[in-house]
Amino acid sequence: MPKNINRRDFIGITGSTLSLSMVNGTSPSSATDIPNLSKQLISNLYELVDKTPFIDTHEHLPSEADRIANKNNKEKTPAPDFGMLFSHYADSDLQVSGMSDKEYKKLTSWDLSPQEKWEMLASYYDRCRNTGYLLCVRESISALYGEADLNENNCEEISQKIKDDIQPGFYRRILRDVANIEHAQINCLSSGVFRESEPATDLLSFDLSTVGIASSISKIGNLNKFSDRPIKTLKQAHETIEHIFERFGPKAISVKDQSAYGRPLLYENIKDEDIETTFKQFVQKPSLLKLEEIKAIQDNLFRKCLQCATEYKLPIKLHTGYFAGHNGMDLSRVRNNLCDLVPLIKDFPNTTFVLMHISYPYQNELIALCKHYRNVYADMCWSWIIDPASATRFLKEFLTAAPANKIFTFGGDYIPVELVPGHARIARKGITLAITQLLHEGWLNESDAPALIQRIMNQNAHETFNLPRVLKAYKA
Ligand SMILES: [Zn+2]
Repeated sequence: MPKNINRRDFIGITGSTLSLSMVNGTSPSSATDIPNLSKQLISNLYELVDKTPFIDTHEHLPSEADRIANKNNKEKTPAPDFGMLFSHYADSDLQVSGMSDKEYKKLTSWDLSPQEKWEMLASYYDRCRNTGYLLCVRESISALYGEADLNENNCEEISQKIKDDIQPGFYRRILRDVANIEHAQINCLSSGVFRESEPATDLLSFDLSTVGIASSISKIGNLNKFSDRPIKTLKQAHETIEHIFERFGPKAISVKDQSAYGRPLLYENIKDEDIETTFKQFVQKPSLLKLEEIKAIQDNLFRKCLQCATEYKLPIKLHTGYFAGHNGMDLSRVRNNLCDLVPLIKDFPNTTFVLMHISYPYQNELIALCKHYRNVYADMCWSWIIDPASATRFLKEFLTAAPANKIFTFGGDYIPVELVPGHARIARKGITLAITQLLHEGWLNESDAPALIQRIMNQNAHETFNLPRVLKAYKA
């Protein structure tokens, strides 16, 4: 387990807390003093943030066994060469910059050599190289393969290393040894409600997904899978949801829901008796229902899930803000995400809501919600690569507005594990910058920095997500 750094260690690194004051001959303890930070202090901060292990609250990693088994399977994975590093997120920037669908397919295909792929990619790479997504590719290449940038001379060699690295234990090596991540919470996109193919461990745990069974349900079959007889009534649907939580709740680290991609987050309080008849129609022929009727069923079932999640003490992680992909975001709905959630937040005061991706680009509203509601937390997952400068500003502003226990500062949000180290590096840089700026402007005392860093990178997640409970459930 990577070691945590306490205040004494930090002072050991900096030499003394006095070093800052000595540089200027003033004490930074008064709010009116503007300290000039020494280069030494800044480099000590970088070192402290580097050494502090992240708890990673959001990834989409497939199982390592699947990655290894599918290493040479052309049907199941992008070719294991450098093109794979552009298969998640970076692909969106490349395509928005002008790369055609056909060219993108070639980039991840098994048909072209790395050299041929580079020739096709180079001009688009150049257009996007300053974005967080592309910076993340570069930082990952640097962290994993020791190369500062990708180019025509090293694309073959990097590709060979990517392929060679796909070996038993490579997840642990990349996450722990390279990225200094203590634990990662996985939202598996391919295993439906819950990933049962492997147990949670000290390295990985799994979210329970409510999208298919409640918040975005479009047919009863998804719930029928968990019922011993075909569901006909709303009561039976509720019992099935209870059964799902009974079965997976103890093993899940949290509930994850990304229904925001397909519908507004206004989950209204629909009384059971008001939709009994509609629900029976839904079971028989969902295509006959109006959109608002389907929404009412989803609203009701999702609120049932929230009751169960609360009972099992599972935090609810909700996608808010920006959409992955390109050419598809409904910005007016995104803009309303946080306003839409307020009734739910008020109706479920004992439920922990973790609002993901800082609701970008509406992150100021998220600070307001986290400051105002006891049960709302902010998760910076994905945000560092969507817009690194904004994420840095968000963290800085959050820390002087809302209690410091209300934020989780890292989730790579990646399918390929190879891109997590780059994201972790960018996040560490942003955290260091935010803390440095707060110190420099006199909003934060140097002596408070070590505990704050430990809290936002690690301790908050330990306090909010109960991994010991999960690990115990697997032993039972
Ligand atoms: Zn995600």
